[in-house]
Amino acid sequence: MPPGNGSRSPSGRKPALVDSAPEAWSEPQTEVQLLPLEGYEASFSPIAIIGGGRIYHLAKDRLGIVEDILVKETPFGASTPIYFIRHGERPFYFVPRHGDGRYSVTAPYVNYRAIIWALKDLGVRHIVAWSGPGALKQTLKIGDFALPDDLLDLTRHRAASFFENKGFGILRQHPMFCPQLMKVIGAGLQELGLEARQGGTYAVTEGPRLETRAEVRMLRAAGADMVGMTLAPEAFLARELELCYHPVCYVTNYAEGVRRKAASPEERERERAQLEKRVEALAEIIPYLIDKLADAPYFCPCPDSMLRYKKRGVIGDDFREWIR
Ligand SMILES: [Zn+2]
Repeated sequence: MPPGNGSRSPSGRKPALVDSAPEAWSEPQTEVQLLPLEGYEASFSPIAIIGGGRIYHLAKDRLGIVEDILVKETPFGASTPIYFIRHGERPFYFVPRHGDGRYSVTAPYVNYRAIIWALKDLGVRHIVAWSGPGALKQTLKIGDFALPDDLLDLTRHRAASFFENKGFGILRQHPMFCPQLMKVIGAGLQELGLEARQGGTYAVTEGPRLETRAEVRMLRAAGADMVGMTLAPEAFLARELELCYHPVCYVTNYAEGVRRKAASPEERERERAQLEKRVEALAEIIPYLIDKLADAPYFCPCPDSMLRYKKRGVIGDDFREWIR
């Protein structure tokens, strides 16, 4: 791996949304070449947004014109409804992760394989996944945006691979997410006057219950910065199908026991309003990012995740054949 930007954020700036409190933050670990790599070509295809329960209502009429709602049959069952939305000249897909209702299905029971397979089948190459985790550190505030760069997967009962009972699928997970998507999303948020913490570790728990105080202490000790239930196995499945994937998180609460002092009713009301404001702002942010992402050239290793298996002749180019 060529030398990269090491411990600095890709923008080289310190994130502004987080207080200068003494708690340490996991610095970005990404070490990737963001310039064109030999053998990689710039690419573009429809982008998919996977949204959490708090933002699904935006898909109805706030993100663009809904031209179609698809339910794709896949080898893993039917996908959740996928919205085909036109924003100006840009078509994109929006997937309400938890179904066509705020929480028709909770995180452990989402059919992640059907969603990712369906998006690949629709020609998508880039996925931006929204998630509303809880903060494990008080340095994060309710409503803050964060672009994590690593995962701690503590899920237990989820189908986490397309390649069950097959002899391939041993894939590196560094960088954890598409470094180019991170760069473009970070720049897009900045242009909108929104700072996002770049880097950090998102711990994924099984749910649907929330974490115990002891579990939260363990996650903090392990270096995690936020905790949620949705990015795994979603991110791993995207890699198996050679898709670019990056999460955008907005902090929704504090995990159990993180807040040392109970918030006053006024403080809670302020936080609720701040979160609501941020969620509503996504109606502006998502279309802006769609334009930004569509215009960006992509030079990243994601489309070649399975290259070594292709070179060995284990699999061909058609991903549908990999899974049969
Ligand atoms: Zn990528």
